[in-house]
Amino acid sequence: LDLRNEDLREIRELGQGNGGSVKLVEHTPTGKIMAKKIVLIDAKPAVRKQILRELQIMHDCHSNYIISFWGAFLSDPNICICMEAMDKGSLDGIYKKTGPINIDVVGKVALAVLEGLTYLYDVHRIIHRDIKPSNILFNSAGEIKICDFGVSGELINSIADTFVGTSTYMSPERIQGAQYTVKSDVWSLGISLIELALGRFPFSESLSDDSDLSDLEGTLSPARPGSINSLAALGIPPRKPKETSKKDKRKSKGVSLQGGGMTMSILELLQHIVNEPAPRLSGFPAMAEAFVDSCLLKDPDMRKTPKDLLNDDWIVYSRTSPIDLQAWAATF
Ligand code: ATP
Ligand code: MG
Repeated sequence: LDLRNEDLREIRELGQGNGGSVKLVEHTPTGKIMAKKIVLIDAKPAVRKQILRELQIMHDCHSNYIISFWGAFLSDPNICICMEAMDKGSLDGIYKKTGPINIDVVGKVALAVLEGLTYLYDVHRIIHRDIKPSNILFNSAGEIKICDFGVSGELINSIADTFVGTSTYMSPERIQGAQYTVKSDVWSLGISLIELALGRFPFSESLSDDSDLSDLEGTLSPARPGSINSLAALGIPPRKPKETSKKDKRKSKGVSLQGGGMTMSILELLQHIVNEPAPRLSGFPAMAEAFVDSCLLKDPDMRKTPKDLLNDDWIVYSRTSPIDLQAWAATF
């Protein structure tokens, strides 16, 4: 399929992210409905072409747990990525509408994400790098699929250069500058599952006014190679936090962590993730709680891989659990 902007008729907007927007479009020559993601890339033509080449790997990704890829093209100054449209949107949007998500549904989400991650890694050696509820999509057929995985190193670099926003699903080892591994995705999955089950971001009540940034300064100090990379990826200038007044800090507490002027609370959150015990589920079936605990082991050496977690008791249970996702989809 040779995709061109002229052949794509916009139907409506599906959502907005940090990097750009996603539109529901019709490919007029074929009548095919797709989601078109428009990413603004501030990069040289050679780099943009490289990104486009790297994205082609997605043509070879075929799994029931991965969003299908229809093609990508340059449309100055943007890159457009056309993919399967999921009519129920992402899980963040769903829980914001419905409230906390039934734990058996959350179990199906865990299973689907682990299947998707295992496929990406085993078949293509791809690490997702951005597991979060907005990148887990759902449709009225009851399918759960992941999108926005890190296929293009150049795209990751280009976005990192301009990125400002949350990176709050990031594992403790990543915050401290360690290499990305499949286990970092497992941490992000654990945080995402708690968010879905509680109907709110698990750290949103853990930021306190008297959090002390001094430990964080150590974590991010230039003396530790690699730390600077993760800071840069967050778009956070290392010395800014000191200037933030107590008043500003209080204002940003518990609210959206996105946008300018709120880096203070992001830094607090990163410090919290590194230094405090991981969040846990409580009041849910023991199997679900144990699974989330195993995703959120702070030491990546102790944490299992997505493939190993497919044998976890809760995941084995979720595979055959009687919840009907198609019926559930019809409730909102
Ligand atoms: P961030 O920019 O921080 O990664 P995000 O994932 O929300 O956040 P985008 O990837 O740009 O940002 O997506 C914006 C929104 O568009 C998503 O939250 C999702 O609800 C919707 N969306 C993305 N892809 C699709 C798709 N294939 N089908 C249906 N809706 C989609
Ligand atoms: Mg996304």
